[in-house]
Formats: sequence, C-alpha cells, structure tokens
Amino acid sequence: MMKAVVFPGDKKVEIREVPIPSPGGGEVLIKMKASAICRSDMSLYYGSDAVVGGEAAKSGCIHPGHEPAGEIVQVGEGVTRFKEGDRVAVYLAVGCGECANCKSGYRMFCPEWKCIGFDQHGGDADYMVVPAENCMRIPDRMSYLVAAVSTDAVGTLYHAQKRLAISGRDTLVIFGMGPMGGAGVMVAKGLGATVIAVDMLDERLEVAKELGADYVINGKEDVLARVMEITGGRGADAARRTPPIP
Ligand SMILES: [Zn+2]
Ligand SMILES: [Zn+2]
Repeated sequence: MMKAVVFPGDKKVEIREVPIPSPGGGEVLIKMKASAICRSDMSLYYGSDAVVGGEAAKSGCIHPGHEPAGEIVQVGEGVTRFKEGDRVAVYLAVGCGECANCKSGYRMFCPEWKCIGFDQHGGDADYMVVPAENCMRIPDRMSYLVAAVSTDAVGTLYHAQKRLAISGRDTLVIFGMGPMGGAGVMVAKGLGATVIAVDMLDERLEVAKELGADYVINGKEDVLARVMEITGGRGADAARRTPPIP
C-alpha cells in the first residue's frame, strides 16, 4: 500500500492508503521525490470548477500533482528508453499518441488529452504510473525539486519565450510576478533579454529583482509611461502576461 493525497472538496485535504499501482504496457512506475503545488490545484481544493479536466477532476478522488519528479522503480512491457533507477521529471499532458498534435509533440492540443493530477492520478502520492513518453531524464546534478518546478512553471515560460524568439536584442515586459512570472524573469535573463517586471505587490517585485529583473514597476504606477521612459520612447519588444492555467 502507499499514501496518496486527495481533495474530496469543500477545502478538505485527505491522505488515503491506496494500493501501489502497477505499470501497463509502455508505462513506468515512479517513486515520487518532489511534486510542486500549483495555483490550479486550488480549484480541486475548493472542489468548485476544476480549471482542467472533466468529471474525473470533479470526483474528488484523483491524486493531484501535475508538476512531479521522481525515480523510476519499475518499467512496463515494451519500455526500452528507461530503466529502474532513472531520475525523471514528468510532463503533464497525456495524449492519444496518434493524432497530428501528439505526433508533433503538442500533446496538450490533442482532442483527447488528459492532464495528470486532474484527469488521472498525479504526483502527490508515494508512487504514480505514467506513459514512459511523458518522462524526461534529468541531469545528475539537478535536484528533484528543481526538476519538478521545471516541468510546468519554467517549461511553459521557456517555450513561450522561444516562440517569441526572445534574445539579447529584446526588452521584455512580464506582468505578474507569481511563480510563473518569476520563472519567466529567469528564462528571459538566460536568453539575454532586458527584463521589466510588473506586479501590484512590492515584495514580489523584490523577488523579481533577486531573480535578475533589470527594472520593476508597481502596477499602481502608470505602467505604460514607465515602460516608455525605460526604453527611451521605443516601447518594449515583447510583453507577456503569465498564464493562469494549468
Ligand atoms: Zn501548474
Ligand atoms: Zn492525440
């Protein structure tokens, strides 16, 4: 048996004893080491309207946790790319594997996609089973904590900025300095951009500075005027409002 978290609804959190799952064909069993808590988990906690997922998400018996990392302890039939002992982060979208979106790697656009932690069991448990193709091997020197956060909070922002082709030529404005906004600052600095961070809370702007933001603006100021001032009247090259889901 193992322990798993469930949100039965109405702001309750329960730890339940449930059987350890076993991996089917193409799947792996992972011993969880870290599982990040996301704002979207709050929708399950309140039990109102899950931001992702259908009936399963509302049932109150799915193990949450869509940003997990752990160690593979058992591989199912046909899995060749991973073996016991591999350290992995887990990508949240499980697709049909056959449609054009799945084939191109955009499993979150699959018409039948399922989100771990909402539609099917996620990482807030001692163990979880996922398709091997959702696993990403992590470097030895990367901690499980960093790996967990890298899946959604950092990965989403990295992908967005790659699509915006952010580089050292750009000044990027990021609105909202929650965990995703903060990750966006780090990614933008890694890509060489000049970063302007905007939030309503000064303590979050302090964190943004620690993460490398070049300029911070409190939303109570005239944000547009400040951006124009910082950029010498040119305006920003790109702007991003950090997404609320998943
Ligand atoms: Zn998330
Ligand atoms: Zn698909």
